[in-house]
Amino acid sequence: MIEEILPNLYRAEIPLPRNPLKAVNSYMIRGDGRFLIIDTGMNREECIREMDSALQELGVDLEKTDFFITHLHADHLGLVGNLATDSSTVYFSEREASYMSASRREGSREDQATIYRLNGFPEDELERAIGTHPGHLYGPKRPIVFTTLKEGDSIECGDFSFTCIDTPGHTPGHMCLYESSKRILMSGDHILLDITPNICFWPRMDDALKEYLASLDKVYPLDVDLVLPGHRTIWNDHRRRIEELHAHHQGRLNEVLFALEEGEKTAYEIAPYITWDVNYKSWDLFPPPQKWFATGEVIAHITYLERIDMIKREVKEGTIMYSLA
Ligand SMILES: [Zn+2]
Repeated sequence: MIEEILPNLYRAEIPLPRNPLKAVNSYMIRGDGRFLIIDTGMNREECIREMDSALQELGVDLEKTDFFITHLHADHLGLVGNLATDSSTVYFSEREASYMSASRREGSREDQATIYRLNGFPEDELERAIGTHPGHLYGPKRPIVFTTLKEGDSIECGDFSFTCIDTPGHTPGHMCLYESSKRILMSGDHILLDITPNICFWPRMDDALKEYLASLDKVYPLDVDLVLPGHRTIWNDHRRRIEELHAHHQGRLNEVLFALEEGEKTAYEIAPYITWDVNYKSWDLFPPPQKWFATGEVIAHITYLERIDMIKREVKEGTIMYSLA
């Protein structure tokens, strides 16, 4: 099902079965003889089916289609490998592309697992979390040649002219697009209305939460009449949502500090103290991938607090114990 948002700008909601995100928004822009598609869905059967029917409904010729991918997560990037043809340009943030190549070289999943182990994540849950990680199951199955973009670069399509904005935080090189004359912000997963973007620890990123909060402040002053996010509802007041997201992370930092008032803990032990916006009644019922994202989010908040000297760490028998500084 295609929805026309503005003349020549459409949205297809690509389903993500058995995933709490439910669906990803894929935006399709009709230009002069070419289409531009922004984000694609996962590389899995249900996404492929819905994408095919959307392309057919709009009369998209993939030989005359380019792509922009907001960030590396499989629900945005996964399907582009199936869709891009030899004549397609696949635009992607330079920072994100170089992060992905470094991860491939240095084996990111292995060093991520090491960090999770150090933070108290149990071995059996770790195996299940990594084995069922969407990035592992539904990412692109062939290498993609990206045309990389930097802050301030532009992408033209028909009467749309987008400027690239680096917005690291949700991922190391997340990128938003801004159309200044139409006052449109393509926000990817940087700002979402109905859900809070996951801010996780990333290997080789010093302080993901600090970068995320700075990226929120960076887009705050833009004049925006329409926010087109990566998931769920399209809305118009990005500033109010940014204020809510700041308050949300402040609250979460306080919950981490509160958990440590009772004494030292691992990141995994702090996680049950945090208010998670999910449908599981208790921490024990979280499936391992959800525990993985939650623990990663706790580590990002701990890192932020360590860097402002509110938390300290001590390694005891191969496990990092955190306490109030
Ligand atoms: Zn994402």
